[in-house]
Amino acid sequence: MAQARIIDGRATAERLRADLAVEVARLKSEHGLTPGLAVILVGDDGASQVYVRSKGEQSRAAGMHSVTHILPAGTSQTELLALVRHLNGDPAIHGILVQLPLPAGLDEKAIIQAIDPDKDVDGLHVINAGRLSQGVPCLAPCTPVGCMILLRETLGQDLSGKRAVVIGRSVLVGRPVAQLLLQADCTVTIAHSRTRDLASVCREADILVAAAGRAQMVKADWLKPGVTVIDVGTNPVPFRDPVKAAAGRTRLVGDVDYKAALDVAHAITPVPGGVGPMTVACLLVNTVMAAKRIAGLKA
Ligand code: NAP
Repeated sequence: MAQARIIDGRATAERLRADLAVEVARLKSEHGLTPGLAVILVGDDGASQVYVRSKGEQSRAAGMHSVTHILPAGTSQTELLALVRHLNGDPAIHGILVQLPLPAGLDEKAIIQAIDPDKDVDGLHVINAGRLSQGVPCLAPCTPVGCMILLRETLGQDLSGKRAVVIGRSVLVGRPVAQLLLQADCTVTIAHSRTRDLASVCREADILVAAAGRAQMVKADWLKPGVTVIDVGTNPVPFRDPVKAAAGRTRLVGDVDYKAALDVAHAITPVPGGVGPMTVACLLVNTVMAAKRIAGLKA
């Protein structure tokens, strides 16, 4: 069997951003509408700062209005809620994202539920989760949206009848990606930490989405020949090089034994360079969609 096709998330994300820039320019010139994204970061977590900077840079590069609110770690629940409510009412803002995790002492769930569901571009509000489960238009979480774009690019628009197995049932990834696969008329199994004989469940899959956060857990003999694998997992592991490992440096691997899977799968996303780059691109997709819906335009 030929080696699996490597699904290049970086290239797809780049194309998506280029298409969005064209769409943003059209919205500005035809409708006087500039999609606006507000990102809120509380505290000084290094990784979160990098993500937030990237979100700001990418939205500006696409021609969008972008605002970043950086609040001190000691910000109270009341202060954060007040900012969210202010942004809910700001007509220049169509998407609000609160960078997670929040520092201890802040009630993440309450903050997310305070966001106007029509501006909830992270798709985490219960209203959007409910709309997604009912199959009605909504803002779906960005990583699952990215997974679906990669799948359709690889397998074509029609995924109907395919057997899909999702490993993971989190609100952020597993559940919403399963809902999106169901909407695409796949036959969907959701596996989790209590699933018995996960290997045989996985062997049924034409499409396998791995989102467990367990380094290289899925082995090649868990895969049906010809399966398409979307590996969402991002797991830091020590470098093989003992000098780098001794220095505490880590590299990222997915949930799937990538090298071995290359001999069995039809196509697979690498880690890094697969799903990861799609997540921010899909945040921009969601922001443009939110802006159009709020403005009463066809999204
Ligand atoms: P999470 O909230 O920890 O959920 C993990 C899910 O996997 C849970 O449902 C858990 O089952 C299940 N699970 C854990 N161990 C398992 C096992 N041994 N067998 C079967 N199922 C198992 O994680 P998450 O937020 O969904 O993220 C999952 C992974 O995706 C992480 O590596 C994360 O870093 C990565 N991620 C990547 C991106 C990206 O942009 N690339 C975005 C988001 C997340 P239970 O429910 O039974 O506990």
